[in-house]
Amino acid sequence: MSANGFFDQGELVAVLTTQPLDRTLDYKAPEGGCVLGAFVEVPLGPRKVLGVVWGPGQGGFDLSKARSVIRVLDVAPMREEMRVFLEKVADYTLTPMPAMLRLATRAPGLGDPPSMRKVYRPGEGQPDRMTDARARVLGVLRDYGGLAFTLTELAEQAGVTSSVVKGLVQQGAVREEDSPRDLPYPHLDPDLPGKDLTADQAAAVERLQAGQRTGDYGTTLLKGVTGSGKTEVYLEAVAEALRMGRQALVLLPEIALTAEFLTRVEARFGARPAEWHSGATMTERRRVWRMVGQGNAQLVVGARSALFLPFRDLGLVVVDEEHDTSYKQEDGVHYSARDMAVLRSAICGARVILASATPSLESWANADAGKYERLDLTSRFGAAVLPEMKPIDMRAEQMTPGTWVSPSLRQAVQQRIEKGEQSLLFINRRGYAPVTLCRACGEQIACDHCDARMVEHRFLKRLMCHQCGETKPMPEACPSCGVEGKLAPVGPGIERLAEEAEATFPEANIAMLSSDLFGSARALKAKIEEIAAGDADIIIGTQLVAKGHNFPKLTLVGVIDADLSLHGADLRAAERTFQLMRQVAGRAGRADKPGQALLQTFQPEHPVIRAILSGDEEGFWKAEAAGRQAAGVPPYGRMAGIVLSGPEVGPVFDIGNAMARNDAPLRAIGAQVFGPAPAPIARIRGRHRVRLLVKAPKGAPIQDAIARWIAPLRLKGDIRLTVDIDPQSF
Ligand code: ADP
Ligand code: ZN
Repeated sequence: MSANGFFDQGELVAVLTTQPLDRTLDYKAPEGGCVLGAFVEVPLGPRKVLGVVWGPGQGGFDLSKARSVIRVLDVAPMREEMRVFLEKVADYTLTPMPAMLRLATRAPGLGDPPSMRKVYRPGEGQPDRMTDARARVLGVLRDYGGLAFTLTELAEQAGVTSSVVKGLVQQGAVREEDSPRDLPYPHLDPDLPGKDLTADQAAAVERLQAGQRTGDYGTTLLKGVTGSGKTEVYLEAVAEALRMGRQALVLLPEIALTAEFLTRVEARFGARPAEWHSGATMTERRRVWRMVGQGNAQLVVGARSALFLPFRDLGLVVVDEEHDTSYKQEDGVHYSARDMAVLRSAICGARVILASATPSLESWANADAGKYERLDLTSRFGAAVLPEMKPIDMRAEQMTPGTWVSPSLRQAVQQRIEKGEQSLLFINRRGYAPVTLCRACGEQIACDHCDARMVEHRFLKRLMCHQCGETKPMPEACPSCGVEGKLAPVGPGIERLAEEAEATFPEANIAMLSSDLFGSARALKAKIEEIAAGDADIIIGTQLVAKGHNFPKLTLVGVIDADLSLHGADLRAAERTFQLMRQVAGRAGRADKPGQALLQTFQPEHPVIRAILSGDEEGFWKAEAAGRQAAGVPPYGRMAGIVLSGPEVGPVFDIGNAMARNDAPLRAIGAQVFGPAPAPIARIRGRHRVRLLVKAPKGAPIQDAIARWIAPLRLKGDIRLTVDIDPQSF
């Protein structure tokens, strides 16, 4: 290899492939040579596989047997900082490198020439007959000044079917042409006028931008109450990154959020950014991947895996709603996108903004320890004030059996309906009822493959397992005792609550928001827009509504069961409840009318409920921190979860027990092992799951110790082991 990382033709190179091998493979550099980091296609047995030139070949074998790289792909080589990043994530999460490379290349056909698609522009001709629909199509094309639309985009913008567009093409009024899909993204202009910032917001922007101008890594926790303008503030940091000629990445937890967010980006910068999420088509993904690598996408808005895109010069990563649990990937590579965003930024000299109204205890503690800068926005923008929060003491309410809305809450909703304002009834349970019970034998219907109950979904007319997704028709007779007509729903889910609301408020317009009810992100987005426009008196929602949406007419939030998540065995239960309740309450009163949040609870004096109601956040965090410190758990100690799974429970437990006995590598670093015990969900898709928890002092090399601990294991048959560093639940 030459000093600038070039390999001449025939020189041996080590190639990391996406195939599950435990080492790189040596190949001869192809005709014309190749550079370190080049994406290549190499032969492996009879197949061609994707790989990256990772370094000089190892040699040590008969060189005449070495095969050649087939071709170098026409994409930007992987940068050194990306290689370092992938290796560090692999070390941190104990993931083999091929799996890391797969994560970094999740865009098929990377090296293929871009495919073509049809686009539509104004044509020269005239339609023979002008209809409303046709006029709308031509209007859209005129309004956008000759911009090319795809068929779906154009039809959607104009609100017509695609046949209307096709008709206009036939008559020459609309022109159809071929265009490559891999176009650069439109230019985002950071110097378009932004909003006039409040003094608080401007001060925060000033601090963030000053940090950015140093060109060094740094992380800021941007803590602001819901509606304080965190988004406005970090968009100005994005603007600064763009002015510096660097790229920016905004990570969002929910696809449902992106529609509103993309509109805001467009309003600020004059064009839409690149999007990266699981709903994107393969062609879209490939375009983002390639354009990011060429520097032709200034801003990417995406889900957690966008962190592994090949940015040319990443200058800023925003993790919005940084406390959100969906940032933790729980299958394949187990990583936290929030933590890995910090790691990636430290490697490439980028800034990180962690934004939240209710930060994770981890980030709060890092700010407290001075590792992160902390900026606070304490008031809502404009006339909006924070909602008043009150408990409804369920012990004192006269409840009719089979109903969940208390008289006090009912009255509050009624008042809002009379004033033409919206109410949100929040229940974090999908489906009709969490339990289906046989009143003859007492059996609860369970999934055949998981340690989980089947949940009745009336909307789908089926029972569904929320673990594996399996559904089956609602039976007439109990599957256990065979008695007919005795199956009864127990407890409320969102659908049952909606039924109650319909009976209680017959004149009200009721909208349900739950992920099950919408076939696509688009349908969900449409519903959210309808609600935001005021087209609902009562919104009944799950967790989905807790996040980021702005419903200006919403002035009341009623939490049906504030105690629901309080009593998990999980040490994070208090933190999660606190975050969720404060987030949900934050939906109320975001415009000019003040809001109120009412929490139905049987334990108004519980310390977590009291902290939620009083809003004493610092007090809550300090108490939580003290508890975690005493228990030696994150963020004051380190944890890892080892899950063993297999078709039979016995052999899985045997291995777990043997691991617990042979824990010398763990003891060597002062770590303890707990278990084996059935995992939080003891069976999923027919596989029995057993968990061991490792607890180590902060700063202990937990990955090394675990690697040494599991290395001698020879897993037989269908038994699998996964390691989860920093598990969500412990
Ligand atoms: P957060 O992200 O903290 O929840 P947002 O940035 O979404 O807050 O702001 C809440 C609402 O207030 C949004 O509709 C936003 O456009 C508006 N807003 C915030 N700051 C300003 C400002 N300085 N000028 C105009 N509108 C603002
Ligand atoms: Zn199941």
